[in-house]
Amino acid sequence: MSVLVVGGAGYIGSHAAHFLKRSGQEVIIYDNLSNGHAELAEGFELIVGDIADSAKLAKVLPRVDAVMHFAAFAYVGESVTNPRKYFENNFVSALALLNAVVDSKVRKFIFSSTCATYGKPVKVPITEENPQRPVNPYGASKMAFEYALESYARAYGVRYVAFRYFNAAGADENGKIGEIHQPETHLIPCIFEAIHGERPALEIFGDDYPTPDGTCIRDYIHVTDLAEAHALGLAYLDSADSLALNLGTGKGYSVREVIATVERVTGRKVPVKMAPRRAGDPPELVADPRRAEQLLKWKAKYSLEQIVTTAWNWAEKERAKKK
Ligand code: UDP
Repeated sequence: MSVLVVGGAGYIGSHAAHFLKRSGQEVIIYDNLSNGHAELAEGFELIVGDIADSAKLAKVLPRVDAVMHFAAFAYVGESVTNPRKYFENNFVSALALLNAVVDSKVRKFIFSSTCATYGKPVKVPITEENPQRPVNPYGASKMAFEYALESYARAYGVRYVAFRYFNAAGADENGKIGEIHQPETHLIPCIFEAIHGERPALEIFGDDYPTPDGTCIRDYIHVTDLAEAHALGLAYLDSADSLALNLGTGKGYSVREVIATVERVTGRKVPVKMAPRRAGDPPELVADPRRAEQLLKWKAKYSLEQIVTTAWNWAEKERAKKK
């Protein structure tokens, strides 16, 4: 099978591209490199293009059997101050991509959705039946696209899996690819920056949440586990109907627990500083991953320690390169 990995020069997309290649699929990466990095696409055919560029997409789509769509902005905080950017890219441009797919012969589509579509969950762990009421524009922009997908699937026969990721983290075990964001906002790489004095301290965004230690709880899932689920999702679509699936481990960790894990794994002290809550952050997001486990015969394998270890090894290697 031949797969167009849109946003394949980004953090999660590049892991999926490598995983697919290792499992014998042909992969073409399509990325506008606005947030992506050409070096993450090394070893692949890379087409530099925008998801809204229908003409460019029309040329490449006849060469593939399926599309995986990872190209999106994913900073919750930024989405609150700049919702226009999020709706324009994650919904309007993404819809242009979906239209190009519908206009081609490709009928398999894998979408990177998010647990942020659930907003403040009514029950944790969160099942796919939890009402989707996003509390930030990032989640809303992904939700809007899920609605479009559902309607398109019914009307035009596109089959899809919408994967609702919990917190993607960690790095490829062979140390080739990892998390690069500029500026960095995600918890684990921010903790590393604090260890190295690249930021004065790790700011803990709120310790007055209704959780045991007052800090937010998230379900951290290794990118290679996500990548494997994507490959299985493609195979699943050969014989089954469209659906949405949570991708998480089913286990939640607070910000303080993540910091403690980093200190244990690295043997380094993390300087911390209390800071106000970050807008748009729900207190607790933990997946009920049973549907994905049953239907895809998949299970997240990496523990939080392994996530932190792979992320740390990769980040240390990158820092050494820059010296
Ligand atoms: N967080 C934090 N300090 C930071 C970065 C993140 O306290 O410098 C918290 C954030 O409020 C959230 C959790 O860590 O509760 C995970 O945030 P991240 O941005 O990594 O992922 P998100 O949950 O927004 O997708």
